[in-house]
Amino acid sequence: MNETSPPSVVSDEYEYPAPLVIPPTEHPVSVKDIDADALLVLRRLHEAGFTAYLVGGGVRDLFLGKVPKDFDISTSAKPGEVKKVFRNSRIIGRRFRLVQVFFGANKIVEVATFRRRSEHEIAGDDVVLPSNNSFGNPAEDAFRRDLTINALFYEIENSTIIDYTGGVKDLQDRIVRIVGDPERRITRDPVRMMRVIRHAARAGFEVEPATWDAISLHKEKLSLCPVSRIRDELFKDLKGGASSAWAKLACDSGLFYVIFPFYKKVLVEHEDAGKYVEKMSKQLAVVDRLVAAGQVLPDGLLMAVLLLPWAEADKDFASVTTQKESYLLSRVIRDDLGEMFSQLNIKRAMQDEIARSLATLPLLTKHDNGKSWPKWLQKKSYFKRGMHLFQVVQETEGGALADLPFAAKESAALKKSTPTSTPRYHMPKGGGRGPAFALNTEGGVFGFR
Ligand code: ATP
Ligand code: MG
Repeated sequence: MNETSPPSVVSDEYEYPAPLVIPPTEHPVSVKDIDADALLVLRRLHEAGFTAYLVGGGVRDLFLGKVPKDFDISTSAKPGEVKKVFRNSRIIGRRFRLVQVFFGANKIVEVATFRRRSEHEIAGDDVVLPSNNSFGNPAEDAFRRDLTINALFYEIENSTIIDYTGGVKDLQDRIVRIVGDPERRITRDPVRMMRVIRHAARAGFEVEPATWDAISLHKEKLSLCPVSRIRDELFKDLKGGASSAWAKLACDSGLFYVIFPFYKKVLVEHEDAGKYVEKMSKQLAVVDRLVAAGQVLPDGLLMAVLLLPWAEADKDFASVTTQKESYLLSRVIRDDLGEMFSQLNIKRAMQDEIARSLATLPLLTKHDNGKSWPKWLQKKSYFKRGMHLFQVVQETEGGALADLPFAAKESAALKKSTPTSTPRYHMPKGGGRGPAFALNTEGGVFGFR
């Protein structure tokens, strides 16, 4: 142990091990790579006498040489104390209270107080935990985190990484491992299974065997989580740039079929299952390329891409050649979506849009002469959205690269207006706006049965 190591701590009648303290010469994270505003927050908290660490995805990504999406900070200061240090801040609380420090109109650094693990996480009944807001120390904060690679602290006074859970070794060995006993941690919060798959897909890491086995064993428990959380995590996966790898891991672990039960008959039981698995993989690879190119694809398009292999397996696309047949197909798909997603509470307008885009595809394919489409088709309100899906399919099949009109700057505007929520889908022309799914925590695919 390094001389500057914090000692082991006893808390909740549980003795936490002393952390590894990795000096700057032995890790790749440099203070130069930390966002200037996040650095300012760390410095000001420190000057005010508090402990403050960079934590979570920020440390993980810097370690991996990636540019972090955001820089989260954990501190010994209580939310009210943080607010006093930063006049340009506000306390928010969804699942737990944290402070958002504003820099300019569009930039937020989030500061959370060290949280303790609920005693239910250490020992206790097998119940899904209610959200919990009690404060703790750094050790407790590390051990309540999802994955070892997400549980590292970086402190700016000595530029060390403080590692309570073995996250540095797992980063070096390219392993995703749940902190603590995976079965217990999954039972407490089944959404962690989705987070395992996400980070393994994104980083190209292996899932540690005990973590993988726990997911296989407990995958159905995802149904116990509120729909809103599953939906948020799902769209993060679709928009995260590694959706193709994500789908593979989600299918292999079975988690995919807990989220989309109707897909089992297409991707597992169908005589052409292999073909549809490959289609999905390739289509999502196009999504990933677009994301890497800075595009922010709307939820409706992402869902249409995700559902296309199902629609092709389940419907006779080849028989659709006229406008009327396309319309009728869209009605059938629309009814199916209503049933398949009845518990997800997808907005009606969104279901219509997905169904229309899917049913327009055979029409666009039929009338594609390599240059343009008939005037009557171009005039249709669904033509544009159908074209977005068509372009993705074209690229999948080795045609032109999809060139969609969704620039990253759209997301900046959305972030500004709804800084704490997931981006909302905008219907381009009238037709209502709102989240892709309404909140629904009762019954069904994702809710409590
Ligand atoms: P990203 O790059 O997607 O932002 P991230 O790891 O930062 O990845 P966030 O959703 O921003 O993910 O969460 C921030 C941190 O909060 C995580 O790194 C992890 O330590 C912790 N965390 C998030 N969700 C959970 C959970 N369900 N259980 C325990 N810890 C969690
Ligand atoms: Mg993050």
